[in-house]
Amino acid sequence: MPDGSSDPLGPLPRPADQPLWDPEHQAMDPELRRRLQDERVRSMVARIFDAPVPLFLSKLKEAGVEGPQDLRGVEDLSLIPLTVKQDLRDSESAVPPWGEYRFTDPRKGVRIGTSTGTTGQPTITVWTRHDLWIEYESGARNWWRMGYRPGMIATHAHPAYLYGGGAMLQGAYEYFGLLTIWVPPPDTDELAEQAIRFWTRVKPDIPFMGFSTGRFLEVADKLGIDRSEAGLEMRLPPGFGLGKGMPLMTAGAECYAYVGGPCGVTAGAHIHEDWAVVQAVDPETGRDVPDGEWGNLVVTTLDRDNGLLRYDLEEACAILREPCPCGETSARGMWGGRFKDLLACQGRRFQASELEAALRVVPELLQPTLEYQVVRPKGDSAQLMVKVESGNDLQPSSPSAQAIGQRAAAAVQEALGIIAEVEVVPRGTLPRSGYKATRVIEPLSG
Ligand SMILES: [Zn+2]
Repeated sequence: MPDGSSDPLGPLPRPADQPLWDPEHQAMDPELRRRLQDERVRSMVARIFDAPVPLFLSKLKEAGVEGPQDLRGVEDLSLIPLTVKQDLRDSESAVPPWGEYRFTDPRKGVRIGTSTGTTGQPTITVWTRHDLWIEYESGARNWWRMGYRPGMIATHAHPAYLYGGGAMLQGAYEYFGLLTIWVPPPDTDELAEQAIRFWTRVKPDIPFMGFSTGRFLEVADKLGIDRSEAGLEMRLPPGFGLGKGMPLMTAGAECYAYVGGPCGVTAGAHIHEDWAVVQAVDPETGRDVPDGEWGNLVVTTLDRDNGLLRYDLEEACAILREPCPCGETSARGMWGGRFKDLLACQGRRFQASELEAALRVVPELLQPTLEYQVVRPKGDSAQLMVKVESGNDLQPSSPSAQAIGQRAAAAVQEALGIIAEVEVVPRGTLPRSGYKATRVIEPLSG
């Protein structure tokens, strides 16, 4: 494989029928890969002492690591205290603007981005060319597994500018060799229409718009544009629906955007372990939970100019290690949602996505898209309050709408064991978003 520093803008071509993008690393002998990880962990620790990187140096000292020689590799990672987003935020506030967790002078970077900042001041991420190359190669493994090939036309609607995710996806698609149509997020019907009309001129082979898909479908229906004319037939990537939760496909743009991808043969996403140690950790002890059980998603990135050591994303993950017959030799990860999206009432803990899956059982709520909001329950005895938009041509006050609301409540009780009050509201009542819709709203105080 070419390395990032000497590479032109794209990777070397490879035969389209080759099963893996990078067989040398994806089908690597697990023993050898583990040794590579150990070596890369040690080199990261050596850089923390050399640079130095004060934030991570203090974590190492807390663990009694006095020098690079004190850490053997992956097996010793569980000794090192976790670092969470708030640590990065605090570090940036104390020593603005970069904080004390960078391994490389930010001026050696070529791209800057911030996290979305939904839970406080966004932190700053800086990528060097080498760091981008790791992401692009990782993305390429994912696209190849999903059947994408250079020469296809892709489209996406990721937010841009300071938000790092859009440029990352666009760059990764270009590197891979896709002709990529980047449209603005559909914040308004006009923006959505602009994109849809363009797709009727240049029809994408890969119409993956992630969170925004529902918005485009809704506006296409409003305009009377046939979905297939705009290439809007959606298909889920392989492997969705296998196992509990979703395949672990990202650890966030700030940490590892393309940490893994599903092969569709077994549950979970193959983790790119040559570039990361991914652990499901019990935050009380710092130790890995048993394979297959939910723990905190903790990532140590490897071989980057700017790394993160034992970074706890405060999301749920589970690791699966039984060998996969597809030929890849890595462990696989399942994703169980963000802890901040976790809801609790009536003695149950659940994700908004589980509520959504329950509502999807009622076909009348799905046309053209399922739009709902849930109020975060206050206290364990609270009733779950859900608002869901009615389907086309359905009057919310009508007896049939009320009956549908009751069926939705029954579906929620069946799936989650929770008593919910489901209110059917007119279509267009709930706020729309060009990117991630807000599904969980906070209760009114007082
Ligand atoms: Zn596999």
